[in-house]
Amino acid sequence: MPGELDARDRDETIRALAAGPLDVLVIGGGITGAGAALDAASRGLRVGLVEYRDLAAGTSSRSSKLIHGGLRYLEQGDFKLVREALRERDLLVSRLAPHLVRPVPFLYPLYRKVVERPYVGAGLVLYDAMEGVKRPVPHHRHLTTRGALRRAPALRPDRLAGAMLYYDAQVDDARYTLTVARTAARHGALVATRAAAVSLLRDGARVTGALVRDQESGREFEVAAARVIVCAGVWSDLVHQASGITPGYQVRMSKGVHLVVDRSAIDADTGMIVRTSKSVLFFIPWDERWIVGTTDTDWSGDRAEPAATPQDVDYILGEANRVLARPLTRGDVLAVYAGLRPLVAERPPADKHGADKHGADKHGADKRAGDAGAASLAGEKPTTKLSREHVVDAPLPGLVSVAGGKFTTYRLMARDVVDAAVAGLPGPVPPSVTGQLPLLGADGLPAVRASARRLAAGSGVTLGAVQHLIARYGSLAAELLDLIQADKTLAGTLVDGYPYLRAEVAYAVTHEGALHAEDVLARRVRLLIESPDRGLAAAPEVVAIMAGLLGWNRRRRAVELHRYQDFAAANGAALTAPATLPEIAAEVAVPA
Ligand SMILES: Cc1cc2nc3c(=O)[nH]c(=O)nc-3n(C[C@H](O)[C@H](O)[C@H](O)COP(=O)(O)OP(=O)(O)OC[C@H]3O[C@@H](n4cnc5c(N)ncnc54)[C@H](O)[C@@H]3O)c2cc1C
Repeated sequence: MPGELDARDRDETIRALAAGPLDVLVIGGGITGAGAALDAASRGLRVGLVEYRDLAAGTSSRSSKLIHGGLRYLEQGDFKLVREALRERDLLVSRLAPHLVRPVPFLYPLYRKVVERPYVGAGLVLYDAMEGVKRPVPHHRHLTTRGALRRAPALRPDRLAGAMLYYDAQVDDARYTLTVARTAARHGALVATRAAAVSLLRDGARVTGALVRDQESGREFEVAAARVIVCAGVWSDLVHQASGITPGYQVRMSKGVHLVVDRSAIDADTGMIVRTSKSVLFFIPWDERWIVGTTDTDWSGDRAEPAATPQDVDYILGEANRVLARPLTRGDVLAVYAGLRPLVAERPPADKHGADKHGADKHGADKRAGDAGAASLAGEKPTTKLSREHVVDAPLPGLVSVAGGKFTTYRLMARDVVDAAVAGLPGPVPPSVTGQLPLLGADGLPAVRASARRLAAGSGVTLGAVQHLIARYGSLAAELLDLIQADKTLAGTLVDGYPYLRAEVAYAVTHEGALHAEDVLARRVRLLIESPDRGLAAAPEVVAIMAGLLGWNRRRRAVELHRYQDFAAANGAALTAPATLPEIAAEVAVPA
């Protein structure tokens, strides 16, 4: 059970999926699908996962990257959601993924002297209390105005009336999703990316698997499974519609945009959360940069690459500049990214009857996680008001689907949907064990951290490079150092000014299933959102390393490079900077 997703073994994985039969086939490789695959595989079931594009290519690489209870959900009265999320946060920080999920302090600036401090203070007392007794993150604290400005000199001092300091946690969302999928593979799950479920297989009313298209070769194959679990996020409705099924909920898409700016643009040693007229705005420290966002607007366009608009950028800058002493300008913005929240709303009764029209007799009741999300006002409620709780539905025998929720609570979503899926399977199926299952890379972490100096000396890379690897891969850093031992050229950095090593590109192919340059630059390393050129300068190097491992010829390398250039250009469209893109592209010669 190696837990490697070696891109070179993909054909073998596809053959094994087609050979079936599986106990459970999961459709969708975001955090929910990866979590469901891990939950089911670690219960001893034979599991497959098919992902239409790349792991985390949907919403799960485009979030605010917080593992949090969600202060604002407390204000909305979603107590159950907040309590569950805080417990999950603490479990991930302390036991399941301490290498990936890190506590981060947040400053909540106060502007109304008399009323705000008691109100926010009471909220934070509750927030801290909901966590339980054992807490891996510190309690909140009250700060005076002077104390607040010491932590965040960037704040405008004129209206400031002090601040609260509290803690949440943050994560590289794409890396986390990948690690969950790898841990599932470690427990026997067959994970195939660029494999789309095009329709569901049926035996009468019962769902018996899925017809899957290999997006790389165009070939289609059937995967037989006793249970199919749909974890397709904002694509859920499409997956259901393709087979004429109408589940009891519908997914409403809400677009959220973030800006990335250099760390030097905002002088603060803590994250910040400030109120906006509609919701809240986060300033989230992200290594040498800040992530600032987000927006929350209805969306009905392209699901795969939702576009941020210049108006989104201006809105975020405007809200940020209400509190910053030195205003941010468009020139400060290194990158913009947009994601779609898969919010669930109950389907209007008229639509529900549509399910019967299609012969989809309802099998089992909807299971709504909590009661706060009974949003029967699809199309009417603003998306900021829709619950972030999840819904599990079983619209047909053999088929279960889950949607909604938050990244933070993925493990609970996975547990609930697998519980619903395995009901009625022959033989006993044990309950979920993921609460006791550290992810790959968590094992032996304290010892690896303590050995960083020795590992650096032994492998010939700097201590800083080893620490960088440990911070991203935990104890799996040893595997990257092994690659470097075998090929010293992999010890170099990928591009100036960023800590990513060439070894990380090779590892992305041999251990993390990367099939294209986009998979590496957008999700294995995060240059797409961290560098002003969106990773274009690194792209030729990435393509060259991948070509060596995947046997790409000169033509294929050129195609890969152009494909990435197009992708990067589309991702930069919201900024006024695209005029520079042709210049950058011209500098990036197609490798011979
Ligand atoms: C702007 C924004 C900020 C957020 N911030 C936070 C935060 O800070 N903390 C938090 O806890 N949550 C946050 N969230 C919510 C969180 O990111 C999402 O709830 C979560 O990522 C959804 O994961 P998912 O697996 O359900 O969906 P996705 O990640 O979208 O995964 C669905 C996958 O299904 C695949 N798929 C679709 N159709 C098919 C098919 N036919 N065959 C095969 N595969 C298919 C897609 O390619 C996709 O990869 C945020 C969301 C947004 C948009």
